[in-house]
Amino acid sequence: MSSIPTLEDLEARLGDLNGKRILVRTDFNVPLDDGTITDDFRIRAALPTIKWLTDRGAIVVTASHLGRPKGEPNPKYSMAPVRERLAELAPGVELLENLRFDPGETANDPAFVATLVEGIDGYVNDAFGASHRAHASIVGPPQFVPSAMGRLLQKEVDVLLGLRNKPRRPFVAVLGGAKISDKLGVVEALLDLVDSLVIGGAMCFTFFAAQGLPIGDSLFEPDMVDTCKRLLDEARAKGKVIYLPDDITGVDAAGNFATFGNQLNAGSKGFDIGPGSAAAFTDVIMDARMVFWNGPMGMFEDDRFAAGTRTVAQAMADTKAFTVVGGGDSAAALAQFKLDDEVDHVSTGGGASLELLENGDLPGLRALRASQS
Ligand code: ADP
Ligand code: MG
Repeated sequence: MSSIPTLEDLEARLGDLNGKRILVRTDFNVPLDDGTITDDFRIRAALPTIKWLTDRGAIVVTASHLGRPKGEPNPKYSMAPVRERLAELAPGVELLENLRFDPGETANDPAFVATLVEGIDGYVNDAFGASHRAHASIVGPPQFVPSAMGRLLQKEVDVLLGLRNKPRRPFVAVLGGAKISDKLGVVEALLDLVDSLVIGGAMCFTFFAAQGLPIGDSLFEPDMVDTCKRLLDEARAKGKVIYLPDDITGVDAAGNFATFGNQLNAGSKGFDIGPGSAAAFTDVIMDARMVFWNGPMGMFEDDRFAAGTRTVAQAMADTKAFTVVGGGDSAAALAQFKLDDEVDHVSTGGGASLELLENGDLPGLRALRASQS
């Protein structure tokens, strides 16, 4: 696998960058509340790349998607608030209108790619969170102009491929969140990479069901039960350990807060791992040398069911292991507990981080590599 061109490689190819127009695909998909940016982290994350280019006199044109407009202009998803904030952080840097206002973006329409590269001397992809999608702004420009990865993308690739290629053992993956079906591919891939898998979140109930344990009315995926059975068998055959919770908190049939073992009677619902499981998971994380965490341990948005996720987040902060967190909700949980500075890397991409771990590559990275030849 040939390497992905860096900003330095781009400079070597283009010569003096002074006055050159560089299109930078950023991930400015910021959270908005009534048109006001509630967290500008994603804008600030793009600054090192932008600054590297403007320091060399390049004219930087940024472009991003925002929300999910359905291929047509929608004032609700206008880039105007982002443009305003960007002007404060990086004066003089241009920002195109929301890429997804044009149906050509998600359809990877060559005509839309042509409009993006018009008058452009080079292209930089710094949008890790969108690099698992073969959209026009991700895979198009590298076919036409010298291209490179930005600093943010480079960091993500280094860290996540490092997990795959240079694992420190014990390597533990902690998985939670709502659905096993979302993450099946990565679970399969992780079984080969890690020494043990820790499973919480609603997805543990599908594993409970696979073992014949009663789960009451907890969220689970009936059509994934057989898959979970197979994963448990596969793990055993490969000598890998799957840790499942042995206590659960949730609500009983009357709707009152309750703690259960690993069997839930009819009418009750599990919303978090229990204190015993949180302590056991902490031990596994403390003894690891590398940990990847994706997906909250419970419905942490509700304070009553945040304890499991909080304990695991604290263990991620306390362990001496190299720690990586991927996933929108896991990152949000970490930030909510003010522990985001205590882990080694918080990925800016949910789906992209899982796909990179699973496949070792992404459409956006392949496009950059091909641009080199
Ligand atoms: P991430 O974004 O980190 O990949 P997911 O999107 O897969 O995580 O899942 C996050 C969601 O899963 C959260 O909204 C959380 O409330 C929900 N969740 C976790 N455990 C449970 C549970 N036991 N019951 C219901 N919802 C749960
Ligand atoms: Mg999510």
